[in-house]
Amino acid sequence: MLIPRSHPRATSLHIRERLVNGYKNGLVVEEGLLAHGRGEMFDYLIGEKTSKMSHDAIKAAARMILLAKHPVISVNGNLAALCPKEIVTLSKITGAEIEVNLFYANEKRKKAIAQVLKKMGATQVLGLDAKFSQEIPRLDSSRRVVDERGIFIADVVLVPLEDGDRTIALKKFGKKVITFDLNPMSRTAQTADITIVDNVTRGMTLLIKSCKKMKQASLKKDLKFDNKKNLDQSVLVIKNNLRRMSHA
Ligand code: ATP
Ligand code: MG
Repeated sequence: MLIPRSHPRATSLHIRERLVNGYKNGLVVEEGLLAHGRGEMFDYLIGEKTSKMSHDAIKAAARMILLAKHPVISVNGNLAALCPKEIVTLSKITGAEIEVNLFYANEKRKKAIAQVLKKMGATQVLGLDAKFSQEIPRLDSSRRVVDERGIFIADVVLVPLEDGDRTIALKKFGKKVITFDLNPMSRTAQTADITIVDNVTRGMTLLIKSCKKMKQASLKKDLKFDNKKNLDQSVLVIKNNLRRMSHA
């Protein structure tokens, strides 16, 4: 489909197209398309741009990843369809491992995702070899399997567009969790240590930039970042946008 550049939602429609292609190529499941719709709705409400709070969260996230001993990027179908190149670039800059970890686990889909990432230059993609499977506690059967070289031993895990149950389980398992989630009220957003309330298609590029910049500087360990406060302010952005739209 040809989307005219002048279309007011051209960017949003292009992102949809990426996701639909991901679905056709076996990366994304039907439920992933619906989850994207939920995200789009919140993107609409935050004004389809990166807020000051999200810029702050991105800086805090970059610092946390760069200071981590064993950072891991957890990749699901939607993320692989939306920003495969950015996943690989972020991994190369920070030394983070890439692990495929799916809500709706399926070996064929895992392989398709790994293939796309390798095409983009990933040298190692974890989460596919059953020989290295380990289980994280307090999560139902299929979703608790992780790679013993990746999430199992990670100190910091980046889990974009994640389900709340898994985020809570990762936290209980002692991980520091960073997420991209357009809904500041979701359980994932509320549970993570750092929530970037932004579309992952905008935020990943900014996170990469921030990591590149910070790598040159000496990083202070005492990071002052209040996720709850940041989330409250993101809700306020939505509230103010709604107020403006209602002309009240
Ligand atoms: P939770 O389980 O955390 O309470 P949920 O059940 O409402 O959240 P899920 O489908 O489990 O939603 O998780 C997907 C999350 O990803 C949603 O909060 C959705 O808003 C968000 N999301 C979807 N697409 C994007 C995107 N492109 N960028 C950022 N966030 C997104
Ligand atoms: Mg959920």
